[in-house]
Amino acid sequence: MEPERDAAIGVLVVDDEQDIRDGSERILSRAGYEVYKASRGEEALDILSRTPLSIVLLDLKMPGMDGLEVLPKIKEMDESIQVIVITGYATVETAIEAMKRGAYDFIPKPFEPDQLRIVVNRAAEKVRLQREAQRLTDERRRTLADLATEQSRVRTILESLPDGVLVTNSKARVALMNRSARRMLAPDADDEAVGGQIGDYIPDAELCTLITEVSKGRHVDFDDIPNRELALSDSHFLLAKVKPVIGERNECLGAVINFADISEIKLLDRLKSEFVAKVSHELRSPLSTIHEQLALVIRDMVGGPSENDQHILARAKEKTQGLISLIGDLLDLSRIEEGLICRDPKPVQVEEILRSTADFLRTKAETKGQTLELSLPEAPLPQILADPIALESIFGNLIANAINYTPDNGRIQAMIDQAGVNLRVRVKDNGFGIPEQDLEKIFERFYRVKNENTRYITGTGLGLPIVKGLVDSMGGIIEVESEPGKGTVFTVLIPARNESD
Ligand code: ADP
Repeated sequence: MEPERDAAIGVLVVDDEQDIRDGSERILSRAGYEVYKASRGEEALDILSRTPLSIVLLDLKMPGMDGLEVLPKIKEMDESIQVIVITGYATVETAIEAMKRGAYDFIPKPFEPDQLRIVVNRAAEKVRLQREAQRLTDERRRTLADLATEQSRVRTILESLPDGVLVTNSKARVALMNRSARRMLAPDADDEAVGGQIGDYIPDAELCTLITEVSKGRHVDFDDIPNRELALSDSHFLLAKVKPVIGERNECLGAVINFADISEIKLLDRLKSEFVAKVSHELRSPLSTIHEQLALVIRDMVGGPSENDQHILARAKEKTQGLISLIGDLLDLSRIEEGLICRDPKPVQVEEILRSTADFLRTKAETKGQTLELSLPEAPLPQILADPIALESIFGNLIANAINYTPDNGRIQAMIDQAGVNLRVRVKDNGFGIPEQDLEKIFERFYRVKNENTRYITGTGLGLPIVKGLVDSMGGIIEVESEPGKGTVFTVLIPARNESD
């Protein structure tokens, strides 16, 4: 087998006979070796001390230091050097002795070029294997070292994160908690306190149930998992995001929960709501007064105002009305946010509230030539406990929107039925529809779809946030489906709980 050309193997030929040295050099160079020569033992050791070589062809019988003396010195310098002793017929026994002392092989003198090549190639093969073994050992050591560094780096980063990170295993037991999580959830626990049930660390039964479900692989859709707020005290709030940890074979290994401290955001939000509520409250009375006075002025103007004045006054009245609605909406939102709504539920017949709201708004629809159809089940629906004003506000906003965002002569339908444990109310129109990119945002405060259709329709952008706030506070769900140019359906699901529940 030929030696590796890419990592040339160095051979030192040590012989006092020049013919042997030169002949060996020729043969081995041609075979791809890098050949060095020495005529005496001292010279050989000198070369080896300067140049790392892998194979030494060593004549045993030399003047001065003989081969048997040189051999241990070579081995002392580098144990891995392969020494092949060159020996005359008479000294085969010595050669064997040399091999006992660590020589790798021997070649009797005189030798054929092929013999030399074979014996050196064999030694070279050994060198090559040694190098490979060394390379693998180095690599393994490096990989282990890298791995250890990587692990400790990840650990350090995890420990330094400002957010709390908690990891559970597939049995929902705590497998890891970083420093922030410990500080947030278990300030008294010692650093290594893991292994307990999730409920030992998180004082929120619903969040614990969610984490358990996710840990056990029952929630594999990442986007499907709701975030949860956790109130640790009146002024300390965390936002928890739960995600499954998915292994290489797509199996669920547990869950990772990220806790962000949102206390300051909550405080700001509360201050903002208080501010808005206060300002709105202060503005409402003077605005109502202006509005009423404008009406009086219009009525009392002697001889009637000119057409132009009438127009100006009508615009002013319309604008003040707009401001009054905005303030009303802001106050409603503040009340919802403070949880002041739906505090006093009464037994109600929801279809009756839907009917009266639709009846009330029918005139508005008719002024646009629209039909407003009501579809109620034949048998009465179960009574539920709810705040009738909140229900009226939900239905009123949805039907008014359907009227507003549907062109003249359109068709509006308000429907109610029972769907499983819920009462289902749908408000459907064949109006402008809502572009897909706006669908998620319409429940945000002040969000209004801006396009050619909506350009001249006035509104506050607070109707749907109010509706959503109210539906949420009842433990219900609101959904919307829409197709631009075809129409929109809003569906509200209200849990059909009654007094006995
Ligand atoms: P407002 O009606 O005061 O603008 P809302 O919060 O009630 O505010 O509605 C937000 C936006 O959602 C509206 O501006 C409108 O663009 C869109 N929208 C609501 N209901 C409908 C509907 N039935 N059809 C089409 N667009 C609607």
